[in-house]
Amino acid sequence: MIPRLISQSFLGADSDAVLAAIEAGIAGLGGGGSHVAQQLAHVGVGGFVPVDDDAIEEKNLNRLVGGTAEDVKARRAKTAIAERVIKGVNPDARVTPCRMKWQNAIAALRGCDVIFGCVDSYGERAELERFARRFLIPYIDIGMDVHETANGFSISGQAVLSSPGGPCLWCLGILTDERIRQEAGRYGKAGSRPQVVWANGVLASLAVGLFVQLVCPWHDAPQMTACCEFDGNRHRVETNRLDHAGLIRCPHFDAGELGDAFYNRG
Ligand SMILES: [Zn+2]
Repeated sequence: MIPRLISQSFLGADSDAVLAAIEAGIAGLGGGGSHVAQQLAHVGVGGFVPVDDDAIEEKNLNRLVGGTAEDVKARRAKTAIAERVIKGVNPDARVTPCRMKWQNAIAALRGCDVIFGCVDSYGERAELERFARRFLIPYIDIGMDVHETANGFSISGQAVLSSPGGPCLWCLGILTDERIRQEAGRYGKAGSRPQVVWANGVLASLAVGLFVQLVCPWHDAPQMTACCEFDGNRHRVETNRLDHAGLIRCPHFDAGELGDAFYNRG
């Protein structure tokens, strides 16, 4: 019998317990969200609310982590695939799969300690961030774009940590009225079967890193706001640590706009 090693982590003596107590919401289980779910399971997060209303299709196999050809035949829900991946790593994980649009899963999501936004459109990301702020939940957003350029294509994206009270996606210029109007899909010109698994992996890894530094900081103080920009053509990430974040007064959210909207009325 192999003796069980005493857990000693660079994340701190109590990190196992902290991570096991976390409830993580993941809105969108495509190329980005499926990566996030897998990594959080390996890191030791205990509770999951994976949300997506879709079933896997053949065209997703090039980027949906954990998806198999058998899942495509069975038209398995992406939430069921995420649950299998998570429980394959940690059979004791608490998983509340929500096969629905995230707007219909708010009862489950508002109990989360963190929400990962892995959705396609800017409009949805704006709504998700607003929802997270209302319930004072840190929001971690990943987004990617593939644009056609004169020389070929350009892959870019970002992972952003937005905390209540700090600069938001609007402050950081990720959300703009024009982007929301255009409602450009995440993969823009990449075609219907974009092979973007590595770029998604970079962004998902950055998102999980921002989360771990937030809850189990292994250096410095927890970082409440961060914007990591990925240049997929040069294979480079530039991280704006936003050391001046405390000086930015976010004008986009009203401090009174908190809690359940229906209780606040009248
Ligand atoms: Zn703002």
